[in-house]
Amino acid sequence: MRSISIFGATGSIGESTFDLICRAGGADAYRTVALTGARNVKRLAEMARTLRAEIAVTAEEDCLPALREALAGSGIHAAAGRAALLEAADRPADWIMSAIVGAAGLEPGMRALRHGTTLALANKESLVTAGPLLMAEARRFGATILPVDSEHSAVFQALTGEQTDKVERVIITASGGPFRDWPMERMREVTLAQAVAHPNWSMGQRISVDSASMFNKALELIETREYFGFAPEQIEVIVHPQSIIHALVGFCDGGVMAHLGPADMRHAIGFALHWPDRGEVPVERLDLARIAQLQFQAPDPERFPALRLAREVMETGGLAGAAFNAAKEVALDHFIAGKLPFLGMSGLVEDCLARLSDENRLGNAPDALEDVLSMDHLARSVAQQAAAKALTRK
Ligand code: NDP
Repeated sequence: MRSISIFGATGSIGESTFDLICRAGGADAYRTVALTGARNVKRLAEMARTLRAEIAVTAEEDCLPALREALAGSGIHAAAGRAALLEAADRPADWIMSAIVGAAGLEPGMRALRHGTTLALANKESLVTAGPLLMAEARRFGATILPVDSEHSAVFQALTGEQTDKVERVIITASGGPFRDWPMERMREVTLAQAVAHPNWSMGQRISVDSASMFNKALELIETREYFGFAPEQIEVIVHPQSIIHALVGFCDGGVMAHLGPADMRHAIGFALHWPDRGEVPVERLDLARIAQLQFQAPDPERFPALRLAREVMETGGLAGAAFNAAKEVALDHFIAGKLPFLGMSGLVEDCLARLSDENRLGNAPDALEDVLSMDHLARSVAQQAAAKALTRK
């Protein structure tokens, strides 16, 4: 029986993964090793009971009593905290979903690779912050990383059977989010509720705001570079409001392979779950006559500076991705808390990168995970200081 673990089981990707596992036979078809979450322990315990998991882990120490209570009598082991999360990652499983949100997902994924697993990688921050280390670790332990981001799953699928040295360019699509056509003046007043109201995708709160600001697409540009190894100038972003085409790959003979599908993450998750086979996935089938039109437009660099910042990060290399992501996470925290305007997020990230660049800290290639974690820590504190200054100026 195939064994699985889901890190970030209680989130949007985690729920979709759970849904697919249940539809494919649940506990009768898969042996569930570990399920993890953070604050939503009630749901975590329900999922663990349904899949008869060996262990359920909450990242939050203070949630352990509630998790224990919810699992009482089930025989499922309950644990909490960072060390428990890493211990869960040390437990071998054939297939592991990495769907914790943010840089917090990096270490568990890295640890899981050590037992040569197949890692279904939704946590894009892992590649943005530590791409070369992660890919090297997978090679070292004979592990497989499968991209779960819809654009990267699309590129992966379009490249199947192709010669990668014959690829001219890769185009990843962006819906443009809720503010695609908003003028700058209106974007100054954006609220959290408006930012999370994504027109096409149903996602967690943080990635929804990142989609609205295009920081999500900025992370995905870097992710494309790190996962597939294409040069930054080969990777393009196009706004495609319908989110039907997820990515396109252009070859040296002028041919372009496009991947189309509904805006439902269960396709990319299901692809990774069944890979290298193709299995039934219960997503809506495209009705092209009803869709009728596919539109495209260039992203606006003025209103969405995150894409330019991502290009600068790719040019700098080294630890710039770790700094970029950490500063972005701090900026996002401040926007969610109502302390920073929507358009202030990119300014804060740019400010933080400029300060670290002045200290010549960004270009150094990381030798080990500790280098990435210490840059993550440093960039967070620089971004916090920049945010505090911005607040006092207000
Ligand atoms: P959610 O916010 O919906 O879920 C995040 C999960 O991580 C939850 O299980 C949450 O627990 C847990 N979590 C939160 N903080 C921590 C922490 N510090 N340590 C450990 N666990 C934590 O996120 P999404 O599912 O939307 O996204 C997950 C990842 O997948 C992200 O990296 C995102 O960029 C990526 N992704 C998401 C897509 C989507 O459609 N949602 C599409 C493509 C990529 P709890 O809820 O119990 O507090």
